Amino acid sequence: MNKKPTKITKSPHKYIFVIGGVMSGVGKGIATSSIGTVLSAKGLRINLVKVDPYLNVDAGTMNPTEHGEVFVLNNGLETDQDMGNYERFLNRDASDYDYMTSGMIYKDVIEKERALKYGGKCVEAIPHIRDEIVHRFEHAALLNKSDISIVEIGGTIGDYQNVMFIEAARMLKMKRPADVVFIMVSYLPTPGKLGEMKSRPTQNAARQLASYGVNADFIIARAETPLDYRRKEKIAVSCNIPTEHVISAPDIESIYDVPVNFEKDRLAEILMNSLSLPARALGPSFTEWKKFAKGIKNFTEHPLNIAIVGKYFNTGDFVLTDAYISVLEAIKFSGYAAKVKPVIHTVNSRDFEGKKPDYSVLDQFDGIIVPGGFGESGIEGKLNVIRYCRENMIPYFGLCYGMQLMTIEYARNVLGLVGAHTAEIDPKAKHLIIDIMPDQKKKIAEGDYGGSMRLGRYPAKLVQGSVAHTAYGTDKIEERHRHRYEVNPEYIQQIEDAGLVFSGKSPDGTLMEIAELPRKQHPFFLGTQFHPEFLARPLAPHPLFTEFMKAAKKRKK
Ligand code: GLN
Repeated sequence: MNKKPTKITKSPHKYIFVIGGVMSGVGKGIATSSIGTVLSAKGLRINLVKVDPYLNVDAGTMNPTEHGEVFVLNNGLETDQDMGNYERFLNRDASDYDYMTSGMIYKDVIEKERALKYGGKCVEAIPHIRDEIVHRFEHAALLNKSDISIVEIGGTIGDYQNVMFIEAARMLKMKRPADVVFIMVSYLPTPGKLGEMKSRPTQNAARQLASYGVNADFIIARAETPLDYRRKEKIAVSCNIPTEHVISAPDIESIYDVPVNFEKDRLAEILMNSLSLPARALGPSFTEWKKFAKGIKNFTEHPLNIAIVGKYFNTGDFVLTDAYISVLEAIKFSGYAAKVKPVIHTVNSRDFEGKKPDYSVLDQFDGIIVPGGFGESGIEGKLNVIRYCRENMIPYFGLCYGMQLMTIEYARNVLGLVGAHTAEIDPKAKHLIIDIMPDQKKKIAEGDYGGSMRLGRYPAKLVQGSVAHTAYGTDKIEERHRHRYEVNPEYIQQIEDAGLVFSGKSPDGTLMEIAELPRKQHPFFLGTQFHPEFLARPLAPHPLFTEFMKAAKKRKK
């Protein structure tokens, strides 16, 4: 079926809009990412865009227990966790324009209005907000120099908030009908008592979408089980599309299998065909992807128990790991790289507070991670866990807050600095090991909290011979940050004299980016001020996570 690759002569840019029907939470983000994977495997340059209809200007001010992880892009934009999936599935960095919220768009339009940029006109949702959205779609395509933009419109058909985005997409389709397709990701329930898969909600959602002037060209039918031909036909007829445009997407074990399944249905080819793009063969990247997707499910080695000690787990009666999704995925990729099967445990740090915490439960773990976090709750528990890891040779990996707390723990228990703390919690503490920098202090005094932390990609220099240097195999790195506080320069000498090594520093030597204990002293006791998890990819696992997994593997043995 696959033809020889043909060079695509510069054809007009194409857009694929992905919209959710019936209900949320059925994997629209993964479907969008996976379409990206299969199309880029065809040698097309893809950019994935996420539209979030809420009024927050970015995702940075939202509570992770409610909204999941805040994912940071190179330029420092704080975005929805879907952007993390996009980068992981495309194995490519997103551009500044690949994420947008209603708040961002309204803010821009209102600022332009205040600057008299609309020449005295009455500024309205239609056309001004809609056109700003269209402009952003087009600009994202240009910035990425992509062949196809795949845009996921957040929310579900029927929501009030996303109407303007659907309207912008409709405008694009109207202007260039041959270059735009709409995909509706739907859900077909199988009520237990009936035992039959029902297609009516999908038909209704397609009709509701049509009432906005948009017809779904493709329907991705999420369901517990694969769709039979009968149901495909039924949906096709009622939605006015060919049967092969109804794509079956049953529940599966691993999200990384979704592109593999889509390819089995030749989704990339059918999509390209409907966008009048010439057929092309799949590139070698897809073979690699398939190998990875298969590999992470079929581990031969014994499982490794990895604990994430955090606080953003509980919502009502449920335990959610969404707040740490990039950390979880980074562990899996490096598990695959180190040929071990990670079994991830979520541990509440508050369990290690109070008079006599039972630390023995920690002994079952082969590695422990304290991830990023904010504020006071659970802090003393985390400090206790870190101490236990240091004293009992359990591999420890601290991410951002996990590095700051690791430094405080060292100051308190090795240097004997009673009252060592972070200014975030106790600005009057006797020893502010972690402090706020003057520019940040000013921002907080002015109440400027949104998008004002140290955000995005910064370079760091590594110390020769350190654990970090060995893992990365290079002198200079760049990693993504999201924090307000830093290791206080006044304590660096003291801490280093006492044995903790700052093995990664900003190029001017002022900011401490990695702290570690030498390998002779501890199998792995390392923390990063940045978030390495943001750059971990299936086909490019993060070297520090891999080094950590290797240490955990050794402990297991
Ligand atoms: N709360 C800490 C700070 O703001 C760490 C942030 C984080 O872990 N992302 O510096």
